[in-house]
Amino acid sequence: MVKKVQMAAGTFADGSPHLFYFPDGHKFAGLFKGMNVILEERGFRDQTRDLKWECPGFRCPPGRTDCCVRRTLYSQPDFQGVTFLLEEHCGKCGFDVLFLPKFHPELNFVEQCRGRAKWSYCQLPASSGEEDLEMNALKSLDLVPLPLMRRFSNRLLRFMDAYRKGLNGEQAAWAGKKYHSHRLLPPSWRKDLEAKL
Ligand SMILES: [Zn+2]
Repeated sequence: MVKKVQMAAGTFADGSPHLFYFPDGHKFAGLFKGMNVILEERGFRDQTRDLKWECPGFRCPPGRTDCCVRRTLYSQPDFQGVTFLLEEHCGKCGFDVLFLPKFHPELNFVEQCRGRAKWSYCQLPASSGEEDLEMNALKSLDLVPLPLMRRFSNRLLRFMDAYRKGLNGEQAAWAGKKYHSHRLLPPSWRKDLEAKL
């Protein structure tokens, strides 16, 4: 069953709580107020009246905090320092949450292990029994070999190093293959890349 979780309240500049849902008794009681109303309640009526909703793709000009309604709201101190419910929940259970860049499976170690486990899962005998399927899923996870996990880990270190050095996705993939025995790109990487280009 899907349970809708409401956003926690924000904070006004004076530290008092700012509720993001209309209160009981309001004709829209329980509904999200929306960005414009939230900003208006913070005194932004004039600044945001003529602004566009958001910059295309929410890729705002670097450093700007007032280019669009969404960026204005997201630049508010309580939005900047917000802790996700997931982080709160995991924190209580003693786990840290590490957010990875979206659409970058090459930087996701778990994704790579899951891919290998999926392959193992397909090799196991087919069954329609729920217990068998659960057992097969757990077995497939156990079948991911440790040396392969180390390779995944080293590969993503190379990708991270390549991105830090300013390489694009294609170049990082090239570097990952070329220096497959390294954890980081060797000092010769720039010369090698220029030669390739
Ligand atoms: Zn913007």
